[in-house]
Amino acid sequence: MSLKIYNTLTRTKEEFKPLEPGKVKMYVCGPTVYSYIHIGNARPVIFFDVVRRYLESIGYEVTYAANFTDVDDKLIKKAAEMGVTVPEVAELFVQKYYEDTKGLGVREATLHPRVTQNMAEIIDFIAGLVEKGFAYEAGGDVFFRTAKFPEYGKLSHQNLEELQYGIRVDVDERKESPQDFVLWKAAKPGEISWSSPWGEGRPGWHIECSAMIRKYLGDSIDIHGGGQDLTFPHHECEIAQSEGLTGQRMASYWMHNGFVNVNDEKMSKSLGNGINVHELLKTIPGQVIRYFMLSGHYRNPLNFSDEAVEQAKGSLARIENCLSALKHRLKTAEAGEVDPEIAAAVRTVQQQFESKMNDDFNTPDAITAVFELVNAANPYINREQVTAPTLELVLKQFEAMDQVLGILAPEAEDLLDEEIEQLIVERTEARKAKNWARADEIRNLLTERGIVLEDTAQGIRWRRS
Ligand SMILES: [Zn+2]
Repeated sequence: MSLKIYNTLTRTKEEFKPLEPGKVKMYVCGPTVYSYIHIGNARPVIFFDVVRRYLESIGYEVTYAANFTDVDDKLIKKAAEMGVTVPEVAELFVQKYYEDTKGLGVREATLHPRVTQNMAEIIDFIAGLVEKGFAYEAGGDVFFRTAKFPEYGKLSHQNLEELQYGIRVDVDERKESPQDFVLWKAAKPGEISWSSPWGEGRPGWHIECSAMIRKYLGDSIDIHGGGQDLTFPHHECEIAQSEGLTGQRMASYWMHNGFVNVNDEKMSKSLGNGINVHELLKTIPGQVIRYFMLSGHYRNPLNFSDEAVEQAKGSLARIENCLSALKHRLKTAEAGEVDPEIAAAVRTVQQQFESKMNDDFNTPDAITAVFELVNAANPYINREQVTAPTLELVLKQFEAMDQVLGILAPEAEDLLDEEIEQLIVERTEARKAKNWARADEIRNLLTERGIVLEDTAQGIRWRRS
């Protein structure tokens, strides 16, 4: 059973073959940090987190880079509105990004490079393109010469002639051709800028990703991902820049996720229906949003609505109820062998889960496998006789699948005995040191996890409530 990935470049599902055995280099375009992320931004963040987790679960060592665009027109405008500097706006929303994505159960990428911290590499990249004839300077701006890259259009499956008609008329007379795109923009007076061979300015959006990928991951990577709206022009331009400069294939597999609609309408500024994740997390648990995102195939559009949220809540509750009942039943289960019937069911579920994930990361069908396990496990909860190894096997399988999907709340996990005892020791030491704040903090943490402490003559005793 091998992993197959749908490649936008070839429009087919291809068998996944990494450049280097056992290793995967993956890059996903990240947000422009001028505001909170909305649910449209959250979709690739959650989905590619699952891609990374799955690749790791089948034994790959994954280097995953997701960038922040921390300087552009929107940041400059926002900084002026807020009366702060561009780096201050960026820092604020980078922190909010980490907070909100953590709330969605997303693990931090291996690398989160920022544009402003890679300016030297970006300028070098552009200089290399100019030197090779792939770019030209005009009045302080630098443009990419698309005519020099005949494959321009290969990702979005358009040819240059079609593009002539397809794109909106560009009136910039300094360009040799309307498809040429900007690599470096001359600074307007008072704007944040960097020195370059073409004068003061800042980079265009497309070049940033090309330069950061080259610096952090190399000339060729395995997987390049992002939202479907980035296919053209952003990713098309990345290919032209990177392959123009290095002569190497930039990425083996191009993956694009579909849009998130809100109440069956496209999300847009003018409709004012963009939903920001920070607000959403105040009323909806992150796991529910995550479940919703994974309940549809990543290449299809998803429709966000109150009804969809309720459905996700209900489905997730079915899994969680089963899990907590299993854990509860485990406390009184007897020793013995694993029930052969459940062992067979677990094997089938694991195979089903893997074959669905191997089929271009089909998360909705992988979730169906999770429910197969719920169905197989439920009858055991009320059985008079059930062995602990039987229940433990089921719990272990749930855990293995959740390592990939990440839909179960981590709070549901019980503290281990040794963790509890270590916390009690730490609390005793804190009290000795008269660090009452820390001592209270530990007691509260234990209370939250259902652990009751009793001061006795023999010392502290604990029990689960
Ligand atoms: Zn990008």
